[in-house]
Amino acid sequence: MITKVHDDPYLLWQEKYSDLPFEVVYKQDILRLGIAFDENSFTDTDYKKKDYFIFTFDRVPLESMRLGENWKAPEEIRISGGPHGLLPTVISVRINPESPYKVGVNEEGILSLFLNGSYIANVLFPPIPEYYNHDYNLDKPVGEIAPAIEWGYLLYLTVFRNCQYFGKDEECQYCDINHNWRQQKRSGRPYTGVKSIEQLLEALSGVDKFDTTAKAYTLTGGSVLTSLKGMNEVDFYLQYAEAINKKFPSRWISKIVTQAWEKEDCQKAKDVGVQIYHPNYEVWSPELFPKICPGKERFIGRDTWIRRIVESAKVFGGENVIPNFVAGVEMAQPYGFTDFKEAVDSSSEGLEYFMSQGIAPRFTTWCPEPYTPLGSSEPAPVEYYLYLLQRYRDIHAKYALPTPPGYGPPGAGNAVFSVSAFMDVLPA
Ligand code: SF4
Repeated sequence: MITKVHDDPYLLWQEKYSDLPFEVVYKQDILRLGIAFDENSFTDTDYKKKDYFIFTFDRVPLESMRLGENWKAPEEIRISGGPHGLLPTVISVRINPESPYKVGVNEEGILSLFLNGSYIANVLFPPIPEYYNHDYNLDKPVGEIAPAIEWGYLLYLTVFRNCQYFGKDEECQYCDINHNWRQQKRSGRPYTGVKSIEQLLEALSGVDKFDTTAKAYTLTGGSVLTSLKGMNEVDFYLQYAEAINKKFPSRWISKIVTQAWEKEDCQKAKDVGVQIYHPNYEVWSPELFPKICPGKERFIGRDTWIRRIVESAKVFGGENVIPNFVAGVEMAQPYGFTDFKEAVDSSSEGLEYFMSQGIAPRFTTWCPEPYTPLGSSEPAPVEYYLYLLQRYRDIHAKYALPTPPGYGPPGAGNAVFSVSAFMDVLPA
């Protein structure tokens, strides 16, 4: 739990990292620490709330949210203006009632962001997508079946809400997918373990009809190790991709997040219309990978995982293979790096390896979720993220790679990707 006084990162870092858009400093700091809400933030209820699209991402258990933040908090906030004249910056909401960053209403009635009580920026909550306002032949809200995130840009289709890597000896040590499932069920959220194709197509019919903001969908869920509904992982996930792309050809950019598959299976994905492939490698360090992803190490292995990523580029094209890493988790204690530069150097080695082959990874921001094995570790320091953003931007430029497709517009003031600032630092 964060209790210590937190200094304004603007004052701490503006000179040293003056080549970064300053909005990213607040963005990364808020993502790693989480954010608190004053009760008065929730007075106007006309905004899109957090749909818990796959993990909690929160810094505290749902049970300890005394204001009911899990039901009331927005999916994201967009900060702008304030004493530093910030450009509009979209940030995913990770609830932490003890965070030094707090959203509340100021004396003039304006929704604002405060840091240790000092005004930092104005705040907007995301609009409710138009398709949320219609009736469906579903026994759940449409936002459970096909939620929109990233200010409406991305439809996040978690069709399997558990992972067959189960328990602390197999689950990725930062991941709360299975804990999230248990918490949400206990709290009474109408969650669906395995979504049906019919449910998905019904929800997407509404998006197709009423929505003009979403430009991409991500199909994902937990890993399938044995079988699910009688299918292996490839067949299980591709049945959805095939059905969506057949019914709504070219309606959205089609993205899939799964384990690293062999080339033949990637070809099957491509054949049913998948355009962008995310075989997330999570952490680059060969020493840390087995510790942080013990299940993946045992079932597939780091070397095989990396080989498959590289080979998948022959199927999708390098620019369409975008493996994620969980930035900051390489500093998780007890076994992670203690020096932020060494941690970034390690991750940059991975960036060099992939980017030199035309593959641009992306990253999300690790925030220690309470029920995970790494949940009691401190998050990585904000300077880790600033240094990483510099390295990411520079290596990306060195290999003259295109803007990663399926992430919306790049550049400070434009980016909508909300769980890290990598899109904010790429040229607009
Ligand atoms: S493979 Fe790892 S990161 Fe992915 S859902 Fe399973 S435990 Fe979580």
